[in-house]
Amino acid sequence: MNPSTRATIWDLSARRFDLLVVGGGATGAGIAREAALRGLTVALVERGDFGSGTSSRSSRLIHGGLRYLEHRRFGLVRESLAERGVLLRIAPHIVRPLGFLFPVYRGDRVSRWKTELGLTLYDLFAHRGNVRRHRPLGKRGVLEHEPLLKESGLSGGALYWDAQCDDARLSLANVRAAAAHGAVVANHTCVTAFEQENGRITGAILEDQLTGAQGTAHARVVVNATGPWVDVVRRLEDPGAPPSLAPTRGSHVMVPRSRIGHHHAITFMSPIDGRIMFVLPWGDRSYIGTTDTESTDSPDHVIATEADMLYLLRSANAIFPAARLGLDDVSYSWSGLRPLVTDPAAPPSARTREHLISVGPRGLVTIAGGKRTTYRRMAIDAIRRVAEILGLPAADPDPMKTRSAAEPLPGGEAYKVEALFSRGVARGLPESVVAHLVGQYGSEAPGLYDIAGEWPHLKEAVHPHHGAIGAEVVHSVRTEYARRLDDVMLRRLSIAHETPDAGLAAVDPVARLMGKELGWDETRRREESDRYRDLAQAIPRRRSLS
Ligand SMILES: Cc1cc2nc3c(=O)[nH]c(=O)nc-3n(C[C@H](O)[C@H](O)[C@H](O)COP(=O)(O)OP(=O)(O)OC[C@H]3O[C@@H](n4cnc5c(N)ncnc54)[C@H](O)[C@@H]3O)c2cc1C
Repeated sequence: MNPSTRATIWDLSARRFDLLVVGGGATGAGIAREAALRGLTVALVERGDFGSGTSSRSSRLIHGGLRYLEHRRFGLVRESLAERGVLLRIAPHIVRPLGFLFPVYRGDRVSRWKTELGLTLYDLFAHRGNVRRHRPLGKRGVLEHEPLLKESGLSGGALYWDAQCDDARLSLANVRAAAAHGAVVANHTCVTAFEQENGRITGAILEDQLTGAQGTAHARVVVNATGPWVDVVRRLEDPGAPPSLAPTRGSHVMVPRSRIGHHHAITFMSPIDGRIMFVLPWGDRSYIGTTDTESTDSPDHVIATEADMLYLLRSANAIFPAARLGLDDVSYSWSGLRPLVTDPAAPPSARTREHLISVGPRGLVTIAGGKRTTYRRMAIDAIRRVAEILGLPAADPDPMKTRSAAEPLPGGEAYKVEALFSRGVARGLPESVVAHLVGQYGSEAPGLYDIAGEWPHLKEAVHPHHGAIGAEVVHSVRTEYARRLDDVMLRRLSIAHETPDAGLAAVDPVARLMGKELGWDETRRREESDRYRDLAQAIPRRRSLS
């Protein structure tokens, strides 16, 4: 099967797989890739779009997690830093190093010397995979780097390095890598029930969310990797299964970067409650995150509340007093549920980020908890358990020696930026467009140049305030399984997050391009456009949507 093709129900029903993975977020996509690399036959199904759950609602950090040092989760920090090194290597176009300034004020919950100790440990744990060693700074040094930070009470700080990613594209890259190694993958395909024989799960009943088609995928093992939905899916196996998650809600707000005027990512302790928070650059925007509150929200409807947004804005204003951010400055907000494993005794921020693998009474393997940064380790552990069940030999116990640590993700193959850039310019594309394509697609940029050469209008931007061009929409459909307008607007091209109107100005051109690729008639095109407009209106933000 062509790895760029979204599998139909028929493709999924036509054979028996070693493994069926339910859930196409970071965890499920990572498991599918790991399994395919081990030579298993794999199917991956995702109810919505790949990465549409928590994996496109994170803080987009690939990090050791400074605050886990506070909770003495040294193993998790060390493992996360090693994974950061792997991802910077195998996906340099999606995961990028980022400098963080950490200002410390008198009276902060964590003192300057503790911060210094923490960052020293961080460097030591990262060892050879470190991005750069941190640099302690006095008060003057901090203000030289970030002149708009509040001066009064500032005692010093440090500059350190971590990494930032496009979280939705990272999940997608893993799905594509799995497919390139033979996995059969389908977004917009929901598991509605399990098929059982002699009390054991032998497959799943599927429903195509776009066509309504139904069928059964047969598999020797089924893995439930549905993040905050794991308990819903476990109850398809065992209606009485007790909850395994204690989720917390995390919200972010996007504001114009110029309003804050920061140069680096900023890590700081919220003056409201002492929690560690971030102000993170994203092109000409910045996002502030995150909250960490106990949540009983359904994972289907998680939104940033006004209280969440005010808390984030007030925390940022307290350290950047000139910003005077208000709700009217929010152009976009997002919120997700952290699928944390039950640990009711611990307060939300201290709840473990480690993962847990369990096997249900009818053989369903469930993986819960974890972080986006450590998805590859989670996948290795899950496949270890699957291999035991299938009676396969154990893989190399060293996670750094598996193929997934060495093989680049699509677009991450070694490339020389200058050479790619010159090729694009030679094809008659404007330099700004070429720079955008190389930045976004890495070694796959020439494929985009080819598409842009098909029709003159494919070289044009689809939104007046965004760099994405028509060719990218076509690529999203042909190569990246985009089937709905929001697949493109939110997760392939991030137009919704990065424009002041949540992407509304791009709705018509994107719908036209997708419609042409997918054979939509006028009615379907209108339905998709209306659906996206409704979705954009529902995003809590203050700017009027005109
Ligand atoms: C606010 C916030 C900030 C975070 N920041 C970071 C960070 O900066 N760095 C970091 O490392 N981690 C971070 N995390 C954690 C990280 O995002 C999650 O651990 C990770 O994304 C979880 O991925 P997942 O695949 O397990 O779940 P999800 O991404 O939620 O994927 C589960 C998928 O299963 C699908 N599904 C559900 N039911 C079915 C069904 N019946 N059939 C088929 N498919 C189904 C869903 O549609 C969904 O796409 C953050 C989390 C939150 C909430």
